Amino acid sequence: MESYSNCAHCGHDLKGRTDKRFCNDTCRNTYNRIQRQQRHIPFPEQAKEIIQAIKRNYQIIASKDKSGGNIYISSKLEDYLAKGFEPKYFTSIHMENNDEQWYCIFDWYFYIAGNMIHIKNFIGQFQIK
Ligand SMILES: [Zn+2]
Repeated sequence: MESYSNCAHCGHDLKGRTDKRFCNDTCRNTYNRIQRQQRHIPFPEQAKEIIQAIKRNYQIIASKDKSGGNIYISSKLEDYLAKGFEPKYFTSIHMENNDEQWYCIFDWYFYIAGNMIHIKNFIGQFQIK
């Protein structure tokens, strides 16, 4: 058995049995409570796949050169879907004109109407609200 010379919680010297880990019940209970609180919640595998899909969407949607400033593009949705674009994965929603629901992937926004996708970029704008 492993021996401890100091309390695992408060660090005070321990006397007596070599298998003691704590001075008293208070130290043991406090130590165990802190351990439970610090236990990490595992990040689900499926969440990693969704983050990958958002990254892929970003790379597809952000492939246009924006060196000339903010841009607005209208294209056939099917062309984007063919590249692997998955509209259900985005980072936030932006309402415009009370009825246009734009989906955001960081600083790129897209809006789907019928078989068209409208894309615009706001340079440097990342929504975190
Ligand atoms: Zn202690």
